[in-house]
Amino acid sequence: METPRHWRLRGQRYGLVGEVCEHCGAKIFPARDVCPNCEDMAYKPFRFSGRGEVYSFSTIYQAPQGYEEYAPYTVALVKLEEGPLVTGQLTDMEATDAHIGMPVEMVTRKIREESGNGAIIYGYKFRPALSSVR
Ligand SMILES: [Zn+2]
Repeated sequence: METPRHWRLRGQRYGLVGEVCEHCGAKIFPARDVCPNCEDMAYKPFRFSGRGEVYSFSTIYQAPQGYEEYAPYTVALVKLEEGPLVTGQLTDMEATDAHIGMPVEMVTRKIREESGNGAIIYGYKFRPALSSVR
């Protein structure tokens, strides 16, 4: 049974939660407690929308161990609508369809399976934005 607390913790773990600088208002991801803009301390959590656009990308044909089943796959540098750049794998699309400026949104997906104990690691990826209204 899922409890609200459980879901809240999941959100922090899998969502794009960074920080906002209360001094200059810069949005920070990943959280680093120091604002890269003004170097003031920043501890206030900020949840990003997960929406952004592809800033640059590269397609991986030789996958590292643990990622072989996904090859070829595309890793993109995504510019979030709040400003920061984050790296994530593109999903739910053909690797060859990636292009600069493509609207994307964050989704939680299986990242890989640990060899040995079979544990499945989840995290975020980006898919083409279905709800794009821009
Ligand atoms: Zn700042």
